[in-house]
Amino acid sequence: MPKSATKIQVFRTLSALRRWREQSRAKSIALVPTMGALHDGHLTLVRYARRTCDRVIVSIFVNPAQFAPHEDFGSYPRTWDADTAALKTLKVDAIWAPNVATMYPDGFATKIAPGGPALAGLEDKFRPHFFGGVCTVVAKLLLQVQPDIATFGEKDYQQLKVVTAMARDLNIATKIAGVPTVREKDGLAMSSRNAYLAADERAVAPTLHRVLKACAASLKKGAPLARTLMEGEAEIEQAGFAVDYLEARHAETLARIASIKDGPVRLLVAAKIGRTRLIDNIAV
Ligand code: AMP
Repeated sequence: MPKSATKIQVFRTLSALRRWREQSRAKSIALVPTMGALHDGHLTLVRYARRTCDRVIVSIFVNPAQFAPHEDFGSYPRTWDADTAALKTLKVDAIWAPNVATMYPDGFATKIAPGGPALAGLEDKFRPHFFGGVCTVVAKLLLQVQPDIATFGEKDYQQLKVVTAMARDLNIATKIAGVPTVREKDGLAMSSRNAYLAADERAVAPTLHRVLKACAASLKKGAPLARTLMEGEAEIEQAGFAVDYLEARHAETLARIASIKDGPVRLLVAAKIGRTRLIDNIAV
């Protein structure tokens, strides 16, 4: 093995993971939960984790509990070899890669039912199964790994707030760290689902970020909230998207706001182009 190559341990059983956790007791540990198909957004979370803690463990698990039957669980991209190669380069210590039977064995019967930001009327309105599935798997990952910190991307802004609230409410000692969204050069937020985009869809996909930025700039200059969002939505639709929502919310609670004076404010969007649903958000 060349000197620069790092040994990366891959755990597929809870007993192997626990042994490693026990051996790492004196070290600080960062967990980066992912569903694989890693891109530079994920790798930025890993770099943050690497800077912050002695040991970094990345979980790769495509969680069936957060997909509805009509969603893309079966076709979700799985790129194991490329993922492990990228994680080796970043000197990750370990990968936690349980299978579905390890995470949800026969008889599994407990689910977390998040409230607060999980019922804000954003993603939850269009994917009602989603945050229950996310919280259940994230709670399991945090209990399995018992990391000092766990990193989550602002790209999934509502998810970051939901997981933060869950960790607080359940007195989970892990610090939830939010990491800013990583974008392509043209502004499109990196996402494993961008791989679904046909060339013509990919060409217009940056509209989401462009409109978010334009809306934020107008609002800061004093433009009225409702009209700004209506015009933004129309522009996104004109580019070929079907908009699920374009909303301005309180950046911490995700509560509805009447004006940006009720802030800090976050703009959040979800829209479908062809068969691909994209989300994005920015601060105002
Ligand atoms: P996923 O594999 O899509 O479940 O994402 C795993 C983690 O990576 C989540 O915390 C996401 O918010 C985060 N993430 C995904 N895309 C990005 C991005 N473009 N920038 C920053 N974080 C991201």
